[in-house]
Amino acid sequence: MPTEKEVYDVIVIGAGPAGYIASIRCAQLGFNTVCIDDRTGKDGEPALGGTYLNAGCIPSISLLETAKLYHTLCGDIARRGIKVGSVELDLPAMIRNKDETVKRLTENIASLFCAYGIKSIHGRGRLIERKRVEITRPGNPDKPLILSAENIILATGSSPVHLGAAPLDGEFIVDSTQALEFDTVPPKLGIIGAGIIGFELGGIWNNLGSKVVLLEAQNKFLTVADRQIAKEAFRHYTEQGMDIRLGARVTCAKKTSKKVVVEYEDSEGKHTLRLDKVIVSVGRKPNSENLFAQAVDLLLDERGFVHVDEHCMTNLPGVYAIGDLALLGPMLAHKGLEEGIYVAERIAGRHSSINYKIIPSVVYTYPEIAWVGQTEQSLKALGEKIKVGVFPFSASSRAQAIGKTAGLLKIISSAVTDKILGVHIIGENASELIAEAVVAMEFSASAEDLARTIHAHPTIAEAMHEAALAVDNRALYILPKK
Ligand code: NAD
Repeated sequence: MPTEKEVYDVIVIGAGPAGYIASIRCAQLGFNTVCIDDRTGKDGEPALGGTYLNAGCIPSISLLETAKLYHTLCGDIARRGIKVGSVELDLPAMIRNKDETVKRLTENIASLFCAYGIKSIHGRGRLIERKRVEITRPGNPDKPLILSAENIILATGSSPVHLGAAPLDGEFIVDSTQALEFDTVPPKLGIIGAGIIGFELGGIWNNLGSKVVLLEAQNKFLTVADRQIAKEAFRHYTEQGMDIRLGARVTCAKKTSKKVVVEYEDSEGKHTLRLDKVIVSVGRKPNSENLFAQAVDLLLDERGFVHVDEHCMTNLPGVYAIGDLALLGPMLAHKGLEEGIYVAERIAGRHSSINYKIIPSVVYTYPEIAWVGQTEQSLKALGEKIKVGVFPFSASSRAQAIGKTAGLLKIISSAVTDKILGVHIIGENASELIAEAVVAMEFSASAEDLARTIHAHPTIAEAMHEAALAVDNRALYILPKK
């Protein structure tokens, strides 16, 4: 029987980027806010920050950076005048360093909650009525807590999709979370699904010495990206040693005597691979199971995404859904956190807005990939008249000086108005460079605006200036197109 009852202005379920940012903004706006989350960290303690911080972007980026450093030290660094002795990988230390980063950041969120007076409850929240949430706490499962609030924000995120043909055993066949915890470098690593997660994980283990085979059911590579960028990425990843097999649908993966036998089909027939470990990265699904009582009529789509209107409001007045859980926009941390701010401000009667058309995407591989706006192929399919400016990093003096010449920066603008419609980057610091394009597009800039903006010389960011000039065939460091 419930024994405790508490009333708040806002209840947030889920403390990932969408939920913790919503909580902080609600508190900033003076709301009495509670945030409920059931995640525990590797040390068994409650861990705020969601997948992003505990098992997604942050741990991946930590491992990617260390793996890149290791690869650099093992590679042609002598050419730059540094001779290193024997380079040895200490994988447990690398994982520990990643865990310490995660711990610092989760504790930082807990400190922010404390400073803002946000109540944090470790437990599992369930919507039992439009304005009421039931919380089951791990140490106290028979004594649920009932909270009520005028406004409830659902931000429970998403989890990896499982593949019936490749059941996980947590050791040999693993999901994207378990793939951040290997205790040895698998000599032969299979990855099922060549989406963003597959490439980021593949990049880590490839740089640490695994022979990586990516099996992708679709015939096209990185379909979400601009074709020119995807082609360039395919070339770089392949040169780095990744074995990318397209049109390869995995039909079975099972463990046999310390190996994984994977069967897949492509246009040439059936194939079998023997691998040391396999990562299943075939997508993510919204965490909407057991999120609400049967009597609560919350509307979901057939895949479990919560229906929302343009204000992130569900079909239940005062109940919002944001982040990966909601059927609006892509599954990206920064989309979720922006929705957290938006909903908090809306509850406060402030009317801000989210521009879903200008959300940057980033793939944290080497080289990095980032884009915003529309691709060349989608614009052509729409019949838009466009101009395209491309600048290769090999023509950048800064890129040459630091030895990071891979990739290109591409700007697409309207042939009628010159307004920038898309910016696509593969190369050093693409994740940072894209911010300039996002700002430019938010302010409806033209390619000419960027071409007239002074960029420091020499910088990698100058590639944006050069690509903007290239839109009008007047880039300075490459020859004009005939
Ligand atoms: P995804 O859907 O992007 O890619 C999964 C791939 O698996 C698909 O290309 C699919 O064709 C393939 N696949 C499915 N079944 C298969 C089979 N039997 N055999 C071979 N291939 C198969 O999913 P993801 O990479 O897991 O990412 C999930 C979500 O998380 C995406 O929305 C992604 O954008 C997001 N995410 C973003 C970032 C980032 O922004 N850096 C990082 C991680 C995740």
